[in-house]
Amino acid sequence: MTNQEIWNMVLGEMELALSRANFTTWFKNTSIISRNEDCVVVSVPNGFVKEWLENKFNKQIITSIRKLLPEIRDVRYTMGTVASLPPEKKDITQFIPDRIMEEIRSNAEVNSITNLNKRYTFDSFVVGSNNELAHAACLAVVKNLGKVYNPLFLYGGVGLGKTHLLQATGNKVVEDNGIRKVAFISSERLTTEIIESVKNHNVEEMKSKYRKLDVLIIDDIQMIAGREKTQDIIFDTFNELYSKNKQIIFSSDRPPRAIPALEERLRSRFEGGMIADISAPDYETRLAILKLKAKEKGSNMDEAILGHIATTVQKNIRELEGALNRVIAVNQMYNKALDLKEVKKLLATYLNTPYKKTTPQLILKSVSDFYGIPLMDLTKRSRKKEIVHPRQVAMFLLREETKSSFPEIGQKLGGRDHSTVIHAYEKIKHAEETDETMRQEIVLIKERIYQSIDH
Ligand code: ADP
Ligand code: MG
Repeated sequence: MTNQEIWNMVLGEMELALSRANFTTWFKNTSIISRNEDCVVVSVPNGFVKEWLENKFNKQIITSIRKLLPEIRDVRYTMGTVASLPPEKKDITQFIPDRIMEEIRSNAEVNSITNLNKRYTFDSFVVGSNNELAHAACLAVVKNLGKVYNPLFLYGGVGLGKTHLLQATGNKVVEDNGIRKVAFISSERLTTEIIESVKNHNVEEMKSKYRKLDVLIIDDIQMIAGREKTQDIIFDTFNELYSKNKQIIFSSDRPPRAIPALEERLRSRFEGGMIADISAPDYETRLAILKLKAKEKGSNMDEAILGHIATTVQKNIRELEGALNRVIAVNQMYNKALDLKEVKKLLATYLNTPYKKTTPQLILKSVSDFYGIPLMDLTKRSRKKEIVHPRQVAMFLLREETKSSFPEIGQKLGGRDHSTVIHAYEKIKHAEETDETMRQEIVLIKERIYQSIDH
């Protein structure tokens, strides 16, 4: 059994035992880097996680590992990748963790200029009544770049295949037309790029990069809600490309008119082309998707089992795939195919730990508890330092954890202007990235938020 298989099993158990946020916080970027007959060394991304795993989760981790390797007595946690086994028992298996290798491999599939990932193709996309229109629109766009549907605006809920279709479209353009200037970018990344370029005084340079394109694909455009500078630049770029008959494609989790704080001029541009929606797939489509994915992964799973997965997971194709992966992983681990009864049991535990949703109220309460200030003070117009900081943190967390728009957040915190919220968000985000104390503060508040959901 490889270290990765062992660690995957531990991760599987921890994932079931913890809320998703907690799980991600403590187990992201961890792996087993080496082991000998009685000790396993786990690499962790930083000292904070190390401490936390040692103090809070060590027992659970050991118990979990012993199910596979009963002789293990000790687990050590180390930052970085060099094994720190006791010298007399120095292990031979020092290598780059499988996960990192995997990441390198999957990144290698992403073209660094176009940002397109070869994994997403039309061939690997199952067409059903839920996505038929969007699929046809994308194909029409590939054949008539900039001519028929410009812009093309796709929208639909989380995990329903928007990114897949957009990427497939980009890949097909490149495939059919040879060297075309195609670029795919998420609006989050675009926003970051814009903020950077403003800071570095090279906005024009950045803009001209996008103006040279034949096809510009922007994913998750709803994320530009409330971001004026980003909207300005997208508007200019749009006009420039559109006037030269260059193709523009957007995706969003909602239709243009439902994106809050979107400038009217942009909204009308989005609505000026073709709008196609993707909805949740029906049973037949879900089953067809599972069959295709199983085949891609080299698994010939029983149709009855695929049918069961298709019946249980209905709303989100990413989760559908997740459930399939889980069954495949367990099959591989035990080196046999689980029968229907076992799969039912496995998925029941998996699906009964749904994504724990937080609420704005809970976030505000956790922030006020953490800083020891009355909840009311967060919404007051006070400029006292003891209150300003917690309020900014609350704004940041509301944005990160509930994806509320900036204006909505301003409203919740005593009717503040969205630019104040953006400023606070930016400030805390930066602090979180650069200041270890701030980062820990945020982690601890999140702990509070998700702990109170768990119980
Ligand atoms: P979105 O961008 O809408 O959140 P994604 O495009 O990331 O969703 O899709 C989530 C996962 O589901 C991806 O792995 C994708 O390949 C897969 N998927 C979605 N729709 C389909 C489909 N119709 N056929 C095959 N795979 C699909
Ligand atoms: Mg997406």
